[in-house]
Amino acid sequence: MHNKTVLITGASRGIGRSTAKKFISEGYNVIIICKNDISRMNDLKQLADTNNLICLMYECDVSSYEAVTNIFNDIHAKNINIDIVVNNAGISHVGLLQDMTVEEWNSTINTNLSSVFYICKNVIPGMLKKHNGKIINISSIWGIVGASCEVAYSTTKGGVNLFTKALAKELAPSNIQVNAIACGVIDTDMNSHLSNEDKQNLEAEIPTGRMGTPDEIANIIYDIANSGEYMTGQIITVDGGFI
Ligand code: NAP
Repeated sequence: MHNKTVLITGASRGIGRSTAKKFISEGYNVIIICKNDISRMNDLKQLADTNNLICLMYECDVSSYEAVTNIFNDIHAKNINIDIVVNNAGISHVGLLQDMTVEEWNSTINTNLSSVFYICKNVIPGMLKKHNGKIINISSIWGIVGASCEVAYSTTKGGVNLFTKALAKELAPSNIQVNAIACGVIDTDMNSHLSNEDKQNLEAEIPTGRMGTPDEIANIIYDIANSGEYMTGQIITVDGGFI
């Protein structure tokens, strides 16, 4: 058993939840964050408790700098060092750009992009002290090629991709690696708005003939977290050959 700690945003559902389970099963302490109803992560805490691992749970809106800073104050007060960060929390917004309200635009930008800055700003000083750390950002293929009716979402993920590349260069001399996964279509609540017909049509366009699973992404996140220091600044596309 080792003492490494991973912080995962958006751990209540989908990719974040699978990622938390994977790291717990591999013996990591976890700091897990969601926006609403912390009790939905109780089973993850129980799993960590059973394995004698530390599990801190926070209900925190990561689109708020103040809220993010508050949880880091608590983490620091508990003297916990973070080794790995998975910036996973995100929302999608589907619709024509001209119909999007300014509030919806700001919420998408702040949740998907500014949150990554807020978390990194708080976590980097501790990683610099240890001269060690991994930051893994969960992005999307739409941040590479752009999606119709998802302009704001594509913008945030394109931003996350360049944030990743630029920060990787800035932090490489300090032995902190920064990478992103550009996911294709993954079977989570984020795609629950799709009708069965839409789902089938979409899957027909994916060379593997199906959506990815959250567990598949969690395994890749885990592998990146355990890759060597020469692997940094990469946007790893995991999309079943879609783009
Ligand atoms: P999901 O099932 O909808 O889960 C989203 C998670 O993010 C939930 O835990 C949610 O917490 C959390 N979250 C949302 N807004 C938040 C906020 N303001 N503060 C804190 N937590 C917040 O989504 P998913 O499909 O697993 O997506 C995870 C990541 O993968 C996202 O960044 C998404 O853009 C990316 N991605 C997904 C797909 C896909 O097809 N599913 C494709 C490409 C990229 P609550 O439960 O409290 O709301």
